[in-house]
Amino acid sequence: MAVPQNKVTPSRRNMRRAHDALTAANPAECPNCGELKRPHHVCGACGHYADREVVAQADEIDLDEDAA
Ligand SMILES: [Zn+2]
Repeated sequence: MAVPQNKVTPSRRNMRRAHDALTAANPAECPNCGELKRPHHVCGACGHYADREVVAQADEIDLDEDAA
């Protein structure tokens, strides 16, 4: 097993972790359906982008279709 040559002091450890913070997401409201979505991305709920549908939404997935 690798063994650290020198002990990392709490100060150096905390300085390293100073850049580890996560940034909060900045969701925007979809102008079509009102669902929260990522800015500059297609809405995952309705498939709209810039007030037009760019991804067709499937009506309903029938899970038993292939079972028989
Ligand atoms: Zn939407």
